[in-house]
Amino acid sequence: MSRVVIVTGGSRGLGAGLVKAFLERGDTVATCSRSATPQTEAWAADPALAGRFLHACVNLADAAETEAFINQVLAEFGGRVDVLVNNAGVARDGVIGLMGERDTDTVIDLNLRATFRVTRLVSRRMLRQGSGRIINISSIVGVSGYRGLSVYSATKAALDGFTRSLARELGARNITVNSVAPGYLRTEMSHGLDEAQLGQIARRTPAGRLGEPEDVARAVCFLASDDAAFISGQVLVVDGGLTA
Ligand code: NAP
Repeated sequence: MSRVVIVTGGSRGLGAGLVKAFLERGDTVATCSRSATPQTEAWAADPALAGRFLHACVNLADAAETEAFINQVLAEFGGRVDVLVNNAGVARDGVIGLMGERDTDTVIDLNLRATFRVTRLVSRRMLRQGSGRIINISSIVGVSGYRGLSVYSATKAALDGFTRSLARELGARNITVNSVAPGYLRTEMSHGLDEAQLGQIARRTPAGRLGEPEDVARAVCFLASDDAAFISGQVLVVDGGLTA
C-alpha cells in the first residue's frame, strides 16, 4: 500500500524536491502552499499520478485553513498520514536592532506556530494509527548562527528542540521525529544572497558547492524509510561538510 506523505510548502524550492522524491518512490503526496505553481499544476494534471497527488492553496499561518487542509488529506487518502515533513518556512533578513515586529511575527508564525499546529493535528492521527514519521526541516543557521538572521536562526534552533521533545513524547507509539538541517541551497529563499556571497559559501564548503533540493530530499526519504526505524530525536545536517 502506498504511504501517505504530507509535505508543507511543496510548490517550489526544497519542498518541490521533496514532493518529487516521495512521488518517485511510489508514495501518495499531499502538499500545500499559498499559491499553486506550474509544477504543482503539472503534477495535479499528470494522469500517472491520479489519486496519488494533492495540492491545496493554504496559508499555514491561518489555523482554520490548516485544519481544513489536514481534514481534506484524511478524507481523500483513507484517513491516514504515514509521513509528515514540516518544510514550509520563511526567512526575513535584518540585524536585530532594525528587525520590525511584523517581519518577526511572519517568521515565528510560519516557522514555529504553523509547524506546531500541523504537527498537533497530524500527530493525533499517527497516535491512533500507532505509527508515523515526522521530519522537521530546520537549518544549519540554527546551529551555527548567521549575521542578520537571528530571528530565523532562533526559530530553527527551536525546531530542533521541538524535535527532541516530540521524539520522547511520541516514541513509545512507534512514531519517530527527526530534524534535517540543510546548508545553503539554491532556492528562492537564498536569493537574498548575492553571487559573491554564494561563491564564498561554496568555497568554504568541503564539497565545493551549494546544496541542491535532491541532496536534502535523499536524507529526508532515508529518515522516512524503514531503514531509519531506530533513529529518533536527531538533527541530520546536510551541508556538504560546511559546519564540520
Ligand atoms: P522557498 O523556496 O521560499 O519555498 C517555501 C515554500 O513554502 C513555498 O512552497 C511557499 O509557497 C511555502 N510557503 C511560504 N509561506 C507559506 C505560508 N504562509 N503558508 C503555506 N505555505 C507557505 O523556501 P526553501 O528554500 O525551499 O525552504 C524550504 C525549507 O528549507 C524552509 O523551512 C527553510 O527554512 C529551509 N532551509 C532552506 C535553506 C536554503 O538555503 N534555501 C537552507 C536551510 C534550510 P507560497 O509562497 O506560495 O506560500
